Amino acid sequence: MSLASHYTDGTCAISFELFPPKTPQGLQTLLDNVRKLTEFKPAYFTCTYGAGGSSQSTTLDVLSKVRELTDLPVASHLTCVGSTVQQLEDYLNKATDCGTDYIVALRGDPPKGETEFQAVQGGFRYANELVELIREKFSSLGIAVAGYPEVHQEAVDAKTDLDNLKRKVDAGADIIITQLFYDNADYYRFRDDCVAAGINVPVVPGILPVTNFAQAQRIASMCKAGIPDSLRTAMTDSDDADHQFKIGVEHARMQTVDLVENGVPGIHYYVLNKSAAAESLLDGMQLGTA
Ligand code: FAD
Repeated sequence: MSLASHYTDGTCAISFELFPPKTPQGLQTLLDNVRKLTEFKPAYFTCTYGAGGSSQSTTLDVLSKVRELTDLPVASHLTCVGSTVQQLEDYLNKATDCGTDYIVALRGDPPKGETEFQAVQGGFRYANELVELIREKFSSLGIAVAGYPEVHQEAVDAKTDLDNLKRKVDAGADIIITQLFYDNADYYRFRDDCVAAGINVPVVPGILPVTNFAQAQRIASMCKAGIPDSLRTAMTDSDDADHQFKIGVEHARMQTVDLVENGVPGIHYYVLNKSAAAESLLDGMQLGTA
């Protein structure tokens, strides 16, 4: 099934994002949680690549196991960080051989301690170049790219960022998955701006159910996502872990209900290899298409 076609039947397709665990125990927990998340009929699972300095080598191993377990399509994230074009092609060949269906094509962040992204010699500078490569040489792979409702942190301004997003779509991306956001107004503004800029692929909102306030702050500062005052106040009302979990999940649930009412084609959940928050927020929702 092509990537874009998950989003064309008028229902709200959901997908779940995982990251490569560091230990065998972490992998076992991830697979147990994947089993639970599959109950919600996701269209596909994705796994990050080198995010936050994590290993790049285990992404495909994780996805192979997820595929074996669920028989669902899987998407590997891939960044240009530290790789020549030849190395990216090697990875894409390996991904295709492993049965990977889709690629989330990214530039990636500068390595820890560096402030500016530097392409390696013989590598790519921007994600649109990676999209071009995949379209040219790996035509069977579906392609998702990243979009930023609150503007990418390095962008000169929102208009330039949108022009750069359009380059990725013009190069052949099938869908856009957004950076996480906590205020749906940011997504609706971004979606309208995409349409006005002539970007006509599905813009899939990315939602992260936060489960404690310290985590919400850490992630929001990493991704430059604003935390609405109402969420901040409700979460910091009490230090109790159950209280913070309940508020975070309820916020993500309210975001989900509102997004569905506003006709989004799908939702991508950043589940951080866990299932409890997603299970709570999706309980009784009847989303998913598989
Ligand atoms: P680009 O689209 O290349 O944009 C980077 C910056 O350059 C932007 O400011 C843009 O406006 C500008 N720009 C783009 N193209 C051009 C051009 N041709 N000329 C001039 N300027 C240009 N990181 C990981 O390390 N691993 C992951 O697995 C991962 N998964 C992610 C998944 C999603 C859904 C999202 C939203 C982000 C993910 N990230 C991941 C983070 C991502 O790598 C960073 O946000 C990174 O800083 C930008 O990547 P990009 O692909 O958006 O870059």
